[in-house]
Order: sequence, then structure tokens, then C-alpha cells
Amino acid sequence: MGLTCFIFRFLRRPQLDTAEGRVDIRVEHGPGVRWFCPTCGRELACRDHVEPRVWRHLDTCQFKTFLHARIPRVDCPEHGVLQVNVPWAESKARFTILMERLIIDVLTECATVTGARRILRITWDEAWGVMERAVRRGRERKQSNPSRYLGVDEKAFRKGHDYVTVVCDLIGSTVEYVADERKAESLEGYYLQFTKAQLERIKAVAMDMWEPYFKATLKHVPDAAGKIVHDRFHVMKHVGEAVDRVRKQEHRELTSQDDHRLKGTKFLWLYREENLPDKHRPALEALKTANLKVAKAWAMKESLNDVWKYLSTGWARRFVKRWLVWVNRSDLAPMRKVGGLIQRHLENILTFCRHRITNGVAEGLNSKIMAIKRKACGYRNREHFKTAIYFFCGGLDLYPASS
Ligand SMILES: [Zn+2]
Repeated sequence: MGLTCFIFRFLRRPQLDTAEGRVDIRVEHGPGVRWFCPTCGRELACRDHVEPRVWRHLDTCQFKTFLHARIPRVDCPEHGVLQVNVPWAESKARFTILMERLIIDVLTECATVTGARRILRITWDEAWGVMERAVRRGRERKQSNPSRYLGVDEKAFRKGHDYVTVVCDLIGSTVEYVADERKAESLEGYYLQFTKAQLERIKAVAMDMWEPYFKATLKHVPDAAGKIVHDRFHVMKHVGEAVDRVRKQEHRELTSQDDHRLKGTKFLWLYREENLPDKHRPALEALKTANLKVAKAWAMKESLNDVWKYLSTGWARRFVKRWLVWVNRSDLAPMRKVGGLIQRHLENILTFCRHRITNGVAEGLNSKIMAIKRKACGYRNREHFKTAIYFFCGGLDLYPASS
């Protein structure tokens, strides 16, 4: 798009103000130009003009550049008196389309609003305005169909008490939907956008063993019972937490007897054995053979990892049942408790044998969201946080349409 289209022309020479560091360009349309109703496209004559408006355009050299024009209005017999669309900006925008595209590019590259603002010399509100408009535009353009493989997860926003629910497309690694809180209704909002026929497209949904998400999916997705997959990383995280509770308890008991063997060993037990850095191996080997409760709990955790290798649901079920017998016979209360959790959700843990999906696929997305959160000083509220997630992770077509 050129800055002036044939119907608009420069009113007089651009004004350069070196003290202010700005260039001002004024344009107007020629006489007798026909216009179009922005709603129905009917060709009409100019009725009058609105008050002059200003748009920030791409800089001219290092000077901020502003475009001034009075937008014509038409009187459509069907739609009444309306402002026409101008070729250089979307309606209500404060920037020309080219400037808005540049802002989107710089924001995307900087991944922080602060950095982009400094380069572009725009205000917080202007940056947010562009992001919000870009996200709205992108979401409106997005093809309306649910992803075939979904991942649902919660993300803590501010100090861990305020949550948002994030729905990801596990194949495209994009965020499809963000909702307040982590209730059943949070996730239902995603499903309710679609018809039953569309929801049938969903092949599998990965999630934690979190009742509200489970219920929402069961309620809306046809045949959900066979499609919900409790994410293996979440399952193992729960087991890891149980191991840690065993360690804490035992550490307290040992410390009271002046035995400090477990001091500083927290992460030793949480690693998967094969991922443990070599420098920690001697410490783990020594502790493993010392007949400790935590070593027993750790062995249970390590053993459960094998379940993810099974391709047959039947064999996997047999394996977990044996594992549960071992856990339930032990004197380790935290392990028995997590065993109960696994038993209750067993059928939807075993669906992994068929679908083999995990939220871990969206790990890159997760770290992106965490980075957004870390840089969250500007996200004065949850709406901004949500907008930023869509902007940076939504895979959306964010640009204004050029005319
Ligand atoms: Zn009209």
C-alpha cells in the first residue's frame, strides 16, 4: 500500500519540525470523488467530513511522522451517515497500517513490550492497543474448528493464587484458548464455541488429573471417556511430590536422632535415574543401599516410569495393578495416597497407550508463557496477560489487512 492512494493527495508540502523531531503530512481528496458505504459497499457522494484526524506513520529518517486528514462521510439510504474507510488505516486506529505492521514485528521480535516501546517510541497504551487489536483480528480470522489433539493446563498468574486455563493445539504448538481460573466453566468456554459435529473431530485431550477439566471434557466432547489422557508428566509429578513428602518426614525423624544423611538430597530423588547428572550418582548409590524409606519410595517412582513404554492397554493395566499392590502394602502413607489417585484415574492414564500424547509436546509453548509471565511487570491485569499469550503464542495472523 502506498501512503497516498489515487483519491488522496498531499494538501501542501510536508512540514518538518526539527526541534520537535516530527514530520507532518496533510492529505485531502480531490473534488467529485465517489465513496463507498463501509457497510454495504454502495457507491455514494461525499456528504461532509469529520474533524481532522492524525495517524502515526513510519518514521521519516529519525523523525516521527504523522498523517493528517479529514475523513469523508457518506449518507447511505440503508445505513445512514457513516465515515468511509481510508486506505491507509483501519477504522479507529491511531497508526497507519504500515506502522501497525512494524509495531507488531518489533513486539514479536523483542518479546517484551518495554523493549518494543523504546525502539518505536510509543506509549504503553499505544502498544497495548495494537496488541489487543492484532489479537482480536487474528482470532476473528482463525478458522473455527477445534484442534484434533488438545492439551489443557493451568497457569498461575501472580503469586500462584490467580489462575488461567490454557488450551493448546498439541500438533501446531499454538495456544488456542485462554480463560480465567481453572474451573469446569473455564474449559467449557472453549468447547462451547463449536457444534457437536465439530467437537467429534477431537481425537484426544491431554490434561492433569484435575476433576473440573475432566468433567467439562466428559460433558462436551463425544466419546470423551476414551479420549482423555492424563498427562504422563503430571502423573509423574504427583508421584515425585509423594516421594518428596516421604523424604521430608524421614529427614525429620533422622534429624531428631542427629542423623543428617538426607540433608540437601531433595533433587537427588526427583530426577529420573537416567537423567541424574553424573556428579550426583555416588551420593544416590550410597543412599539407595542404606535401607531408607525415601529410597523405597524412589524405587516405586522409578518403576512406574516403565508404564509409558507399553503399547497394549491390557499389559499396561496389569503392570499398574502389580505396582499398586506393592505401593499399598508399603508403610509409606504418601505413596499409598498417590497410589489411590492413580487407581481412581487409571483408565484415563492407560489411554496413553493408544493416543501417546502429552502436554510435554507443548513444552516450548510453556516456556514461552513462563517468559511472558516473568516479563509481566507491564501486565497490570489478567486481561493483558491473556492478550500477551494470544499475541506471542497464538500462531495468529496479526497484521491489519492492507487495502
Ligand atoms: Zn450502506
